[in-house]
Amino acid sequence: MHIYPWQAESAERLLSLRAQLPHAILLHGRAGLGKYPLAQAFAKLLLCEHRVDGATAACGACPSCHWFEQGSHPDVHILQPSAMDETDEAGPERKKSEWISVEQVRHAIDFVQLSSHRNGLRVVLVNPAETMNAAAANALLKTLEEPPENSLLILVSHQASRLLPTILSRCHQLRVNLPEATQALTWLESQGVAEAGLCLGLAAGSPLLATTFADEDYQSRRRALLTDLSGAAQTPALAMAERYAKLAIADYSQLLQWLQQWAHDLQSVKLADRVYYHQDFSTQLRNLAMHVNLGLLLKLQQRLQRARAVVAHPLNVQMVLEDILLEYTSAF
Ligand SMILES: [Zn+2]
Repeated sequence: MHIYPWQAESAERLLSLRAQLPHAILLHGRAGLGKYPLAQAFAKLLLCEHRVDGATAACGACPSCHWFEQGSHPDVHILQPSAMDETDEAGPERKKSEWISVEQVRHAIDFVQLSSHRNGLRVVLVNPAETMNAAAANALLKTLEEPPENSLLILVSHQASRLLPTILSRCHQLRVNLPEATQALTWLESQGVAEAGLCLGLAAGSPLLATTFADEDYQSRRRALLTDLSGAAQTPALAMAERYAKLAIADYSQLLQWLQQWAHDLQSVKLADRVYYHQDFSTQLRNLAMHVNLGLLLKLQQRLQRARAVVAHPLNVQMVLEDILLEYTSAF
């Protein structure tokens, strides 16, 4: 049933739950490991009507499997932010949301309380669970506390620590682990990802996330910024801030992430001679690390963290960047 080579163990643990199916399962782990496709494959198998004892994958040919593939299974309900739903066409009056609303949860609860159309089970997939706001999570909790017969909730979470403890305690928790680097690299190479090692490093080991970094435009923007940062002493911070503020309007969050990774790399090169993220800049990082003041670097990292926390509502992108880049250049 596993979709990706690193999911074999998680798939096996899911399959072992079939004998005594819990009412709620939480698949958690880092983003970019394919937890949602795994949850889908499991739901598809549970609903498959071509039942063969011990089958480890859905048949792919019965009406249930067919509906599942079409995204129109009458016993499956998907709970996700409208921003992730391609079939949801937001009009001019309604913007798509990054959050799962309490209304959406109420729909899902109504859905599980109906009787099933086919083989007896109704499944709700929540993806990702941490996008439920407090009211939504509390509404779902009631269903978790008194689950209807023949219902299964599968929650997927990239940040399970953000879920209510009361939700966590009601779920059978199953952690999806990062693959070994060699397995991830083999898979990335089989997918034709150029610079697989670099992309995997940027994704901190998550292979699916790594595929998104293979994009040429992404890499050229990243390298342009890092080239500027490598010349810290020569590049005037204010000019750099002005230029990046113009570029960053749409991509401010990405810029902050690169800066954070860069600061992290500088610190780890200085302390342990190890580059985590920007492996293609290890020579430049080593040169810079010789001159960097660790105390000031730490202050910069805290500054970047504060900026990331309010990234959705930056007061003034250029001012924040001026601040950060001035702190950066003064750290050498
Ligand atoms: Zn089937």
